[in-house]
Amino acid sequence: MILDIATFPSPVLRKKAVEVELLSDELRELIENMKETLYNANGFGLAAPQVGESIRLIVYDETAGKVGKNPKVIINPEIIQTEGEQIVEEGCLSIPGEFVPVKRYLTVKVRALDEDFNPIIIDAEGNTARIMQHEIDHLNGVLFIDRLPAFRRDTLKKHIKRRIARGEYA
Ligand SMILES: [Zn+2]
Repeated sequence: MILDIATFPSPVLRKKAVEVELLSDELRELIENMKETLYNANGFGLAAPQVGESIRLIVYDETAGKVGKNPKVIINPEIIQTEGEQIVEEGCLSIPGEFVPVKRYLTVKVRALDEDFNPIIIDAEGNTARIMQHEIDHLNGVLFIDRLPAFRRDTLKKHIKRRIARGEYA
């Protein structure tokens, strides 16, 4: 089932999400629905708060399904090591139509659980590292616009509010 994606300034996008404690049928169903929603939106990553569930769960695919679908799931992720820097244009399914350069770490080491609740360590670099940081931010109520220098952030927020007023957001 394709889920509705919350858009800025929905309050659920600003909440700190809680840890997932139980691998339930309900959780498995949410994961499947999030995968479907991710591909339907041609996204690289989707965090549970974006579909209204304030829990620490992320589905991502660094190819956005363009070279065969290979969805990955991380639960209760934690960045345990970072290195370097990259500035790459970024967008967000919750802030449709806006793409701006965002400064991120070049590599991150992430500790998490996979969709069967097995502990995993991911050494991510470049695009994958950027997706991880963007999606983990969502679990903490942080959006990519918060990562911009103050002046650009304010300009972009005003621009987004004008678009919302014009009814350009879902
Ligand atoms: Zn996003």
